[in-house]
Amino acid sequence: MATAVSEDQALLIDAIRKFARNELLEADRRWDKDETSVWEMLPAVAEMGLLSLSLPEEYGGLDCDMRTYAAIIRELAYASPSTAVSVSVHSMVAKVLGMHATDAWKEKFYGELGSHEHFAAFAISEADAGSDVSSAQAVGQKVDGGYRITGSKMWITNGQHARWFLVLCRTNPDIPRSGGLSAMIVDGNEPGIERDKIHGKMGIRGSETVVLHLNDVFVPDENLLGNEGDGMKVCLGALDEGRIGIASQAAGIAEACLDEMVSYANERTQFDRPIGQFQAIQTMVADSSMELEAAKLLIDRAAHLIDQDQKDPKASAMAKLYATESANRIAYRAVQVHGGTGYVNECRVEQLYRDVRVTTIYEGTSEVQRIVIARQLIKED
Ligand SMILES: Cc1cc2nc3c(=O)[nH]c(=O)nc-3n(C[C@H](O)[C@H](O)[C@H](O)COP(=O)(O)OP(=O)(O)OC[C@H]3O[C@@H](n4cnc5c(N)ncnc54)[C@H](O)[C@@H]3O)c2cc1C
Repeated sequence: MATAVSEDQALLIDAIRKFARNELLEADRRWDKDETSVWEMLPAVAEMGLLSLSLPEEYGGLDCDMRTYAAIIRELAYASPSTAVSVSVHSMVAKVLGMHATDAWKEKFYGELGSHEHFAAFAISEADAGSDVSSAQAVGQKVDGGYRITGSKMWITNGQHARWFLVLCRTNPDIPRSGGLSAMIVDGNEPGIERDKIHGKMGIRGSETVVLHLNDVFVPDENLLGNEGDGMKVCLGALDEGRIGIASQAAGIAEACLDEMVSYANERTQFDRPIGQFQAIQTMVADSSMELEAAKLLIDRAAHLIDQDQKDPKASAMAKLYATESANRIAYRAVQVHGGTGYVNECRVEQLYRDVRVTTIYEGTSEVQRIVIARQLIKED
């Protein structure tokens, strides 16, 4: 079982909690209304070290262990679900680059990833390749000194301002599905890149989401991650940690919902007493509190296993599945406890209810998490 975080880690988490609640909460409400993005706060986010969480110390990073990282993402999500997912995706890409980028690329750029100008994005999904990402069709054609990529990537978080895109593309059309795919890091400043903002999202409207078009974009050999054909391995490995980020995002939203629920239950009076004295309301509060604690324990366990180098994809999948599904239930109850008030945007739970919805969809839907869990168990038998 996991132990408590160290004093230094607790101080870091506490500083981020204060920053998020003081600086991000109101901004996040505005991004939701205006459909503007977290980008305006990104210099301050970088200044807090939040883009350096997964960078090693030798590159100026905080080199956070996964348990501390999960607690930080939860604190961010409590105040700003949009900032939480933006930081989570950036950190996941930074981690993958640490593991798979060539020394030549790292020497030039790796240390820069802590700055907002080097914001990173993860581009694997396509319009026709979502859950079935191994059917991706973007082409990476070998040319002298590198590759030329042509294709479109769908739903790319951080995509409006990202400098770096981790792109999955087909380098060998003769090998079907996973075997023909490679992962490479694409410089967003290269000619041939277009970013189309996706408008009208239900929630996390402060998080940037684009369709990324790559029109004959040059990528030097040194930007290949691993070997040709390793693309799925590189990307799926990243998702074990990414899923802990999304699970933590969901837990942070759930925690905010629970606090809002409890405070409203104490303050709202009907039938001459606070509604918190009605057993039906108490049941919603009690179930939410229990589910949130269970989610945190599953997240902590999955993070602890990664910190111990014990590979167990089903642990991350269970944490993501349970934390995101229960957070959706908790957000539903938070609206219910608020009655009509909870149905109007002025009340924060209305936004949280919309923000939490996507957590059961991205970085693998709940159905895909169940496949990951069951496959590992059946294989283990
Ligand atoms: C706001 C947002 C941000 C995103 N950010 C990123 C990003 O940064 N990078 C990126 O690459 N992608 C990103 N995505 C894409 C996301 O990961 C996909 O939407 C997700 O993987 C599901 O793919 P899909 O939307 O094509 O749905 P589909 O795969 O078409 O699924 C539709 C339904 O069918 C179910 N289904 C599919 N296959 C199976 C099966 N074998 N068994 C049972 N059920 C199945 C699914 O669970 C789902 O319920 C983002 C998506 C959103 C909405």
